[in-house]
Formats: sequence, C-alpha cells, structure tokens
Amino acid sequence: MDKVILIKYGELTTKKGNRNFFIDTLYHNVKNKLKKFHVKIYKDRARMYIEFCDEEFSLIKEAMDHIFGIHTYHIAVMVDTNIEDIKKNTLQLAQKEEFSTFKIEVKRSDKSFPLSSLEVSPILGGYLLRNIPHISVDVHHPELLIKVEIREKKSFIYANSYQGCGGYPVGTQTRGLLMLSGGIDSPVAGYLAMKRGVVLDAVYFEAIPHTSLDARNKVIELSKKLANYTDSISLHVVNFTPIQEAIYQNCRSEYCITIMRRMMYRIMEKLSKNFGAKVIINGESIGQVASQTLDSMAVINAVTNMPVIRPVACLDKLEIIDLAKKMDTYETSILPYEDCCTIFVPKHPVIRPKMEVAINEEEKFDYISMIDEAVASIITIPISNEEKEFQELL
Ligand code: ATP
Ligand code: MG
Repeated sequence: MDKVILIKYGELTTKKGNRNFFIDTLYHNVKNKLKKFHVKIYKDRARMYIEFCDEEFSLIKEAMDHIFGIHTYHIAVMVDTNIEDIKKNTLQLAQKEEFSTFKIEVKRSDKSFPLSSLEVSPILGGYLLRNIPHISVDVHHPELLIKVEIREKKSFIYANSYQGCGGYPVGTQTRGLLMLSGGIDSPVAGYLAMKRGVVLDAVYFEAIPHTSLDARNKVIELSKKLANYTDSISLHVVNFTPIQEAIYQNCRSEYCITIMRRMMYRIMEKLSKNFGAKVIINGESIGQVASQTLDSMAVINAVTNMPVIRPVACLDKLEIIDLAKKMDTYETSILPYEDCCTIFVPKHPVIRPKMEVAINEEEKFDYISMIDEAVASIITIPISNEEKEFQELL
C-alpha cells in the first residue's frame, strides 16, 4: 500500500494567470524544507504529493507546519485508478478506524474514468456496509469521513486532515525589511508578512553598553524562529548608541522617542535601498504606547516615502500574544533584557507630537553624518534554519 502526503493549496487556487508561479514557488520551498528526508515530491495544478517514509513522518510534519502556502494536508493511500483497487483500499483504510457512522465523499477529476462520483460513492459505501459489521451511513455528522479523489492513473483515499499554516509561499513577493526588537510584537509582524509571501531580512538597533549582548542573542533567537518559516534570514545589527546618546543630550525629553523613531526610519530607508527591500515592516500597534498614536505615527512616518507595513497595527495585545505563542516566540520575547527603546524612556513622552517641533529638535545635532556612519558600520549575521549552521555562528 503506497502512502503519500497530499497537499491542498487553498488560497493559491484563487490565482489565475500566475497560479503556476505560486505552485512552483511552493514546490521549491517544500523541496528545500524536506531536503534532508527520504521523500519524492511531485505536483500538478490541484495538488502536491510527497512520497515519504513512515518513520520520518513526525519530523516531516514539524517541517510542513512551517511552510506557508499549504492549506491542509492529508496522509492518503495512493492506488491505481480502477474501481477494484479503490474498493479494496477504501475497505482496508476503514478497517483500521473505530467508528459506527461514516460518509464517503468522492471527487473525480479524471473525466475519462467510466463512473461518475455520484456512482462511485454508493459502490464504496455498499462495499463497506457489507464487509464491516454494525456501521451505518450518516451524511450529516459522520464519525468517519473518507475522501476519495479519482485522478488520472492514480487515485487517493484518506480520512485524516492536518491544518497547514495557510497564506502564500515565501518568495511570491519581493523583500521587506523587518524592524526586529526583542519584544512580542515585531516577530509576529515578521511572521504575518512572511505569511503573505514576503521575503524577509531583519534589522535590530542596539545601544551597547546601555543594552546587553543578551539582548542581541535574544533577537538572534527570535530571528531563528522566523527563519524556521523560510530558508534563511539576514539579521543586520545597527549600532544605535551614538545617535541615541546625541538625542538624549540635545533634544527635549518628551520628544526623544519621536526623534529616535524618526532616526530609525531614516536608517531603515537607507538599508532597504542597500539590500533591495521594497517595504519596511514593523510591530507598531495603534495606541499601544505614546509613539504609536496615529498622531505620532504620522510625524514619525513623514521621514520616509517608503511603504511601512504594520501587520499587527489593528490587533489587540492578547491576539498578538496568541500568535506569538503559536509561532513559539513568546517565551523568548518575555525574557527581561533591556531594549534600546526601553532605556532612557522619558517620563512624559509626547502623544500628539508637532512636526515642526520634531524637526526643530533633531536639528540640534548632526544626525545626517551619524546616520551614514550607523549604516556603514552594520554587522550582518546570517541566520539559517539549519540548527547546526546556526550553532556554529554563536
Ligand atoms: P515589540 O513591539 O516587538 O513587542 P516593543 O514593544 O519593545 O517590542 P515598541 O516600542 O512597541 O517595541 O516599538 C514598536 C516597533 O518598533 C517594534 O515592534 C519594532 O518593529 C520596532 N522596534 C522597536 N525597537 C526596536 C529595536 N531595538 N530594533 C529594531 N526594531 C525596533
Ligand atoms: Mg510593541
């Protein structure tokens, strides 16, 4: 009995002209993610199929649960497309399950098959009823739902379903640059952007000695969790200390955070150009803190014309936390290391900053050359989803 993992594409199927591009990208990502397993992968416009070894399934499943673009997947029995083989294998599959009511759903995409799906269902249902005692058909709430897909040459029978992580395959959009702090929100923002197909690199602003290397390692750990959903991520570390110190020495305290974030955006724009990123992505959430009121966002955003995507802008903190737990970053994010945003926090940060005041304040020091210096001196850390390669970097 040949078993395969059968992948359903979900939202990808709404694509028309460029559907092949989406499927090819998913195929590439699946192949890459499963390269260390003994698998054979093939695809058509409706499904992807993976022949696999039973002993490796739990590890394969773990990998599959980190591939965007998979709607659901199923372990299916693959049989030759003829009614006798389909009958025999449907019975074998049902005999392994415990149930008293069942339903069979048949989908026939091979129109040359001589029986319609409406004709196949009762043939299979009758065969089960004759061969397994004490069972009956329940088309509304069956305990066991068996699906049969009749395709050219091979057909597939399955009674299980695993939820994939949905979205579009990473690589179906171009690159975005994520502002990754050690907090809860920004890794979730990166996850959601990747879920729409964005290729991600990350930028971390650090302020050593005010922030520690532990804080940097935490961001590396978070990047690694994000890299689990893709191939690899470059983490660019910006030395933000001189700019931050200059802000706190020269500017009105209630405007320090506003100006600090304007500096970050300016640096992000330059780095985006250098690394070919088309958008900036961050974990800002409307109203969460003083710098994330709509008034603050407007004054901060004004320093760049680049699109800034804020995937968690409209989520509640609890919704963000749920996602952080799902993607397994929460426990790392709550480790208590100071970030450059949490040091020197003014007592009363402005919540309705005025553009003219922000411009006035930041002109009190030579930020242009400091920004160029910060951009020129970044450290880039390649983060791979391969545990071994990652360990070697530490
Ligand atoms: P998070 O929002 O990730 O939980 P946070 O709450 O400490 O962290 P905020 O002060 O809310 O961060 O900042 C809003 C967003 O700005 C972050 O989500 C992140 O995208 C970006 N950001 C803040 N600090 C940094 C930093 N040190 N390096 C990179 N990006 C940062
Ligand atoms: Mg936040």
